[in-house]
Amino acid sequence: MSHLNDKVPEKIGRITELAYNLWWSWTPEARGLFRRLDYPLWRKTLHNPVQMLQEISPAKLQEAAQDSIFIRQYNKVMMLFDETMKNRGTWFHQTYPELGDKTIGYFSFEFGLHSSLPIYSGGLGILSGDHAKEASDLGLPFVGVGFMYPQGYFRQRLPSHGWQEAVYHQLDISQAPVLPMLDGNGHEMRVSVNLAGRPVHARIWHVRVGRNPLFLLDTDVDENEPWDRELSARLYAGDSETRIRQEIMLGIGGVRALRALGINPSVWHMNEGHSAFLTLEGIREQVSQGKSFEEAVTIVKKQSVFTTHTPVPAGHDAFGFHLVEQYFNGYWDELGISRERFLSLGGHEEEWGMAFNMTVLALNLSGQSNGVSELHGKVSREMWQEVWPSKTADEVPISSITNGVHVSTWVAGEVHNIFDKYLGPSWLDEQDNPAIWQRLAEVPDGEMWEVHLALKRKLMSFLRERVRRRWVSGGNDPTQVLTSGTLLDPEALTIGFARRFATYKRATLIFRDLQRLQNILLDTHRPVQIIFAGKSHPADEPGKSLIQHIYNLAKHNQLGGRIAFIEDYDMHMARYLTQGVDVWLNNPRRPREASGTSGMKAAINGIPNLSILDGWWAEGYNGANGWAIGDEREFDNHDIQDEFDANAIYQLLEEEIVPLYYDRDRDGIPRGWVEIMRESMRSCTPMFGTRRMIKEYTTNLYVKAMLAGETELA
Ligand SMILES: *Cc1c(COP(=O)(O)O)cnc(C)c1O
Repeated sequence: MSHLNDKVPEKIGRITELAYNLWWSWTPEARGLFRRLDYPLWRKTLHNPVQMLQEISPAKLQEAAQDSIFIRQYNKVMMLFDETMKNRGTWFHQTYPELGDKTIGYFSFEFGLHSSLPIYSGGLGILSGDHAKEASDLGLPFVGVGFMYPQGYFRQRLPSHGWQEAVYHQLDISQAPVLPMLDGNGHEMRVSVNLAGRPVHARIWHVRVGRNPLFLLDTDVDENEPWDRELSARLYAGDSETRIRQEIMLGIGGVRALRALGINPSVWHMNEGHSAFLTLEGIREQVSQGKSFEEAVTIVKKQSVFTTHTPVPAGHDAFGFHLVEQYFNGYWDELGISRERFLSLGGHEEEWGMAFNMTVLALNLSGQSNGVSELHGKVSREMWQEVWPSKTADEVPISSITNGVHVSTWVAGEVHNIFDKYLGPSWLDEQDNPAIWQRLAEVPDGEMWEVHLALKRKLMSFLRERVRRRWVSGGNDPTQVLTSGTLLDPEALTIGFARRFATYKRATLIFRDLQRLQNILLDTHRPVQIIFAGKSHPADEPGKSLIQHIYNLAKHNQLGGRIAFIEDYDMHMARYLTQGVDVWLNNPRRPREASGTSGMKAAINGIPNLSILDGWWAEGYNGANGWAIGDEREFDNHDIQDEFDANAIYQLLEEEIVPLYYDRDRDGIPRGWVEIMRESMRSCTPMFGTRRMIKEYTTNLYVKAMLAGETELA
C-alpha cells in the first residue's frame, strides 16, 4: 500500500485504502469512483483497483485530484466508508448488544470474493465470500480463515479440439487486495505446524472484507523446503497427501494463526470438512491446560459449527489410515488418547475400505451441524445416520439453512437503480422483508423490459469483446471464434447454463434428442440459443468429456451458431451471464445439488429459472416465478430419469417458454414474460439473499454456541 501512497495526490490519498478493502466491490458508489478515475484502465484490469492504481499515470491522478466532480464523489464515498467502518447500529449490535465481544472464526478452503483474488473454484467458494460480505453488512464479529493460493485455481483454455487445458498463472500478489500481517517489529508474522516431523511455516495475508478481516495462510516463504513452499500453490491440485497436509495447515495452522493474532473465537465454523482438524487442535489446547479428553471434547463441541455441502459421497474427503498415522503419530498422545481412539473419531467405511473421513470427524466434534437446503438437510440426515447409531434418520441432529447470495454483489447496477426508484432508499437494509418487494408491482412493464434488454446487450458485447481480444492476441483458430458466441443473435431467446462441469449436473442433458432440440433452436421466427460456460476439475475426465461434447456441438453448422461455449468461467463472467440471459437452466440429477446458488443470482436480476426441483429451487419455485423440470420423482434408473427430464425440458420450451417469450404486444413488450421476471425478483430476493441466511446462522447456531461458551466459563 505504501508504494502507492507516494504516487497518489494527498487530496484523494485515501483511495488506496479504499482499493484494499473489498467493500468497494459491493458498493455502487465506490465502484463508480474507480470507473470514473480511468475507465479504459478499469476495464483492462477487469475491475481491479489495486492494479489500476499501480498502472495509472500520475497525470491522470493529478487530473482527478483537480476535478471538482471527482472530488465531490470521492468525499461522498469516503464518508460512507467511514460511517460503515464505525460499525454502529448494525443488526447484530441491535439484536445482540451483549454479545459484541464474541468472535466467530469461519474456516473455508476457498473464498470467492472478487476475481482479482482467484482463490475459489465454484459454488462453495462463492458462498464463503458472500457469507463474509454479509457478515460485515450485518455487523457480525467475524474473522475468516483460508488459504492464499499464489497460482489460484486454473484458467481454462479450450483448444479447437475442445479438450479443456488447465493453465496456471503465478498471481502477482502486489496486484491483489492483500497485505502481509506484521509483528510488533515490522516483520512478517509466521505460523508453524509440524508436518510428519518437519515444521512448515506460513505467512498470514490480511484481506479486508468490509468491517472484518480474512486471514489467508501462504506457505511460499523462504524458511520452507521447496516442496513445502508449493503446499499452498494451487487449489485442489494435489494428491491425497498434499490434501491432508493442506488440511492440517488450514485446521491446525489456522487456529494457531488466530491465537498469534490475539483472536479467540467463541464460535468455530467449519465451512465443509476441509478444516475439521481445527477441532483436534482445540482439544489439544484444552488438554494441555489440564482438562481430560472427555472434558475437552465437551467444550470444543459447544463452540463448533459445521456445514456440510454435498450429498455426493465422493465429495467428502477421506484419508487412508496410514496417511493419518504418518501425520498424527504423537499428536494423539497430546490429546491423551490412543491411536485407535483417535482413528475412530473419523473412521468411516469408504468404497475402498476403512478411512478417516473429514465429515465424520466434523460431525462427531461439532455441537451443531447443518446442510444447505431443506432437501439437502434431509438427505444428509439419512446419509450420516450411522454416526448416530442409536437414532433414526429423522432424529439425526443435522439441521438445514438454505444458502443465499449477497444481493449487492450479484444485482446489476441497472436493476439496483430500479429498486432504488420503486422500493425506496432503504430497500437494501430491509431486503429480507417480503413486504417491500410487493412494490415491484409499480414498475412499468416497459421499464422492466428495457432494463433487461440493456443487460442482455451488455452481455453480448462482453462476450464479443472477449473473443475479439483472444483473436487479436493470436493463437486461436477461426472455429474458436465461432464457438465463443460471435454468432449469437442479440434478439433471440437466450438460455444460460454455467457452473462447474461435475457429471451430476448433466450439462449435456438438453442434447439428448438432438433433432427435437434443433427444431427448437432453429425456428425461423422464434429462435433459441444456449450459452454454456464452466470448468471441470483437472482430474475429472468424464467432466472434461462433457465440455468437449458441447464444444463439438457448438462447432457443428447444423446447430447454426445457436450454441456457444465461453471458456474460463469465473465470478466476473458469472455476473454478466446471470444478469443478461433470458432464462437460467439447471438440470442436476436430484438430489445431488445440495443447494446451487447461480440460479438465485439470476432470480434477483429478474431472470427466471428453468430448473429441476432440487436444492434451493425445491423451496423457491412457486408456480409463477419460473419453471420446474419434471416433478419430484426420482428414478433408480439413470437413463429413464434422463429421458423423463429431457422430455420435460423440451415440452416446457415448446409449449410455454418460447411462445411466452415471443408473445409481444404493440409496443414490442412480452407482458406475460415480464410478469414472470417480476415474480422471480419479488419472491426470491427476500428469501435467497445472504441477509436471510446470515440471520439464520446467527440466531439458530452462532448465538447458541456463544451462550453455551458462557455457561462453560461460569
Ligand atoms: C455462483 C457461482 C457458482 C455456483 O453455481 P451453481 O450453479 O450453484 O453450481 C460457480 N461458479 C461461479 C464462478 C459462480 O459465480
